Amino acid sequence: PAKPLFSEQLPAGLQTISNIVAVSSCKGGVGKSTVAVNLAYTLADMGARVGIFDADVYGPSLPTMVSPENRVLEMNAEKRTIIPTEYLGVKLVSFGFAGQGRAIMRGPMVSGVIDQLLTTTEWGDLDYLIIDMPPGTGDIQLTLCQIVPLTAAVIVTTPQKLSFIDVAKGVRMFSKLKVPCVAVVENMCHFDADGKRYHPFGRGSGSQVVQQFGIPHLFDLPIRPTLSASGDSGMPEVVADPQGEVSKIFQNLGVCV
Ligand code: ADP
Repeated sequence: PAKPLFSEQLPAGLQTISNIVAVSSCKGGVGKSTVAVNLAYTLADMGARVGIFDADVYGPSLPTMVSPENRVLEMNAEKRTIIPTEYLGVKLVSFGFAGQGRAIMRGPMVSGVIDQLLTTTEWGDLDYLIIDMPPGTGDIQLTLCQIVPLTAAVIVTTPQKLSFIDVAKGVRMFSKLKVPCVAVVENMCHFDADGKRYHPFGRGSGSQVVQQFGIPHLFDLPIRPTLSASGDSGMPEVVADPQGEVSKIFQNLGVCV
């Protein structure tokens, strides 16, 4: 029989976590990591104990989006476990914090890396673990979702029609796994300039998904230069501007998960 992609038992380090939320997208570059990180810091601001697991091994963005003092994961040599690093009270694990990484990996290597990070991390007691999923709905994503007892999924998309078709795939994957898809975030849906609102990618695909699949919540996230700048600066927008429009959107999303 084929070797399983991941170890089949619930990793010990995950047993002390109350809610595990997947933030998923079917394409790269739609803002999945931006949503994962800002959601995590919003939940932390609401008083929850939170961790982020960056499972996007091909393009780990967590290291650019947050600025922990310690940028390399520590090991507990005796127990052979990984100790998450931390920034503003949120625990963080990313392949990007694993020291010298390899940019080119075949599927089994990717699942090996995710598996190791997942099974050996000591998260401790958490109210929420946010998983920044690898983009797509392939074997790696599917198996990851089967092993991790997800309590909810959030799907991130942009308004283009093609992404709608992809989102439908994601929704089907989670529904097959009986993981409730609690919200769709339609990112980069509009921007305001000269007193007018522009929808550069068209509109309405998010509401189509929400209606078709009975997803309870849809959030529109505008294009904001500050969102992109904060992503690069290592301080999430919701931390930099806690009273801003974007923070309010994430507070509403935080209540849903
Ligand atoms: P993904 O995780 O889907 O690959 P990212 O969250 O890394 O996408 O976002 C891709 C890029 O787009 C990043 O540079 C990010 O800062 C930027 N970005 C994401 N959402 C927005 C937005 N609403 N407004 C402006 N820039 C954004």
